[in-house]
Formats: sequence, structure tokens, C-alpha cells
Amino acid sequence: MIIDVEGIVLNTKSYSDTSLILDILTIDRGIIGVLAKGCKSLKSNLRSVTDKLTYATFTIYYKKDKLSILTEATIINNFSNIKKDIEKISYASFLLDLTHQVYKQCEKNDLYNLLISALIKINDNFNPLIITNIIELKYLDYLGVMPSIEGCIICGSKNVITLSSDKGGYLCKKCRTIEPIVNEMTIRLIRMYYYVDINKISKLDIDKKIVIEVNNFIDDYYDRYTGLYLKSKTFLKQLLEKIKN
Ligand SMILES: [Zn+2]
Repeated sequence: MIIDVEGIVLNTKSYSDTSLILDILTIDRGIIGVLAKGCKSLKSNLRSVTDKLTYATFTIYYKKDKLSILTEATIINNFSNIKKDIEKISYASFLLDLTHQVYKQCEKNDLYNLLISALIKINDNFNPLIITNIIELKYLDYLGVMPSIEGCIICGSKNVITLSSDKGGYLCKKCRTIEPIVNEMTIRLIRMYYYVDINKISKLDIDKKIVIEVNNFIDDYYDRYTGLYLKSKTFLKQLLEKIKN
């Protein structure tokens, strides 16, 4: 059957000299594998709609649980600002990889809207690190390893003064031992990142030091609790080192 489905290309792999298989995260059918026949040929009308990050309505000959076949696609947003900025491309690429991995573990359709909202914000020139951290924090819930951000991880007290990725969340004065004290704003921001509706963000005016502190917590937490290792993340970390200096 022929269907139209909204989606985004998370990944592509070679199928033959001229064809690709696309992993498309769709709005309501999860990730589907789609064969784009002949798309590498210069004359193909599929050539411009089969890259990673293509966000479009795809017309496909759909076969459930088998490889579907792409016939055409109409771009919804071509993310032109992302594509002309290497930093933005790196963040977008990481978000595609991360979403792929998280979807495999939870199979929740909500990830689609989160990913698309984040990419739109990055394309609209919002700080890509903050947007990425927001997504990372929200995804922890889908991975089933959400840190404790309502109160102290040990005693539950609301009077938290710092956080620890090792212990798994916020800490109060009584339960803190050797953990360095983070900025009060860092504690508030992590909670805000988790609850914020990305579509409603209209400005992100946050001190760079705080942004880095939040990012350090999330990075360290991912390393300890998610078991995910993504090459695109390693690249981002190198990029960030340059920005810090
Ligand atoms: Zn406590």
C-alpha cells in the first residue's frame, strides 16, 4: 500500500552503488527502513531528499516489518541554518544518533516531537548546547534512569544545595559529603530543562559558566547510567573544549 508519512531521516546506509536504505523516524509508525532506489544517481529526483536530517512527508510503498520503498518526498523544513554551520550540524547529528538509540530502547513515539522541536530551535539559532542538554535530560526518563531532581536523593529533603551524578541526583546539606557545591542556578536549571516545553522557549539567556556546569552533570550522568556510547558525542566534547578555552 502507498502511504504518506511525516518523518525524519536518522541514518542512511549503502544498499548498492546507486541506492540507499534510510532509517526514518516517523511521526506515528516508529522507525521504518526505506529503500531509496537509484537515489545516488545524479538524475534521481530522490537525490535531494535522502540525506540524514531530511525532514519531510515521505510517499512510500509501505510493507509492514519489511523494507518499504520510497517514491517521493516533500520537504517540510530543510534546516538551512543548521546545514551551513558545522557546530549546529554536529549537535543535530548527535541528536539524530541519540534519538535512534533511545527509540530502540523505549519505542515511544513522543521522541519524534521532542527531536523535531529541538532541531527547529537549533535551526532558529538558539544555543545548540542548551537545546541538546534539554533533550538529553528528557530522554533519561525514557531510558528509565532519570536522576532525582525533586529532592535530595538520599533523604528526600527539598532543601538541596548541590548535585552528584555519582549518587544520582540532588543532595541536601546533611547528606552531602565530598561533592563540590554547584551554583544555585544550576540546580534550578536542571529541573527547568526537564519540565520545559521546547516549543515555548523564546529566549535562553543563561550564563556560560552555568551552561557548562549543567552540561558537565548531564555528560557525566550519561557516562555512568545509560551505557550509550556515540561517536558523534565524542566529537561534540572536543568541540566544547575549544569553546571553553
Ligand atoms: Zn538529604
